Amino acid sequence: MTLLKSKPDEPIDCPKCFVKMNKIDAEIPKKKVVMDVCPSCSGIWLDKNELGKIIESKKLSDYLTKQIGTKTESPLVCPRCGNLMDHEHAEEVVVDVCLNCAGIWLDPGELADLQGISASGYEGDPKLKAEELEEEHKANKRRSIIDRFARKIYK
Ligand SMILES: [Zn+2]
Ligand SMILES: [Zn+2]
Repeated sequence: MTLLKSKPDEPIDCPKCFVKMNKIDAEIPKKKVVMDVCPSCSGIWLDKNELGKIIESKKLSDYLTKQIGTKTESPLVCPRCGNLMDHEHAEEVVVDVCLNCAGIWLDPGELADLQGISASGYEGDPKLKAEELEEEHKANKRRSIIDRFARKIYK
């Protein structure tokens, strides 16, 4: 279970301008998606699973928000849970995704870009994803070695 600083329906501050973001209905037919939109920079915050409701390709939304590795190349801090974020790439679009709660930050125009990429059939780059899976695998292995080591010391 993911621990959140605030619930998805609570207002959050823009991770770039630090002003309160507005709740705006994404107006997706038959689906309820309330986005957080910054009144200052027009950036958009989507909580986990919201991207999948807005763009057509489930593969692309999963690609961007699942198994995102352990590197934290993004300078942003997640406005929802305070965790570190990473860059995810979809063709020429680079978005910021929280490594903890999988919320996603979109700069102005990026949502439309993702919708366009999704409609054109792009589903992600398996080679890039393989690198991130490898990263996660290594991190888990490191963790278990440290655990075993710690158990030996504290026996
Ligand atoms: Zn902003
Ligand atoms: Zn988060």
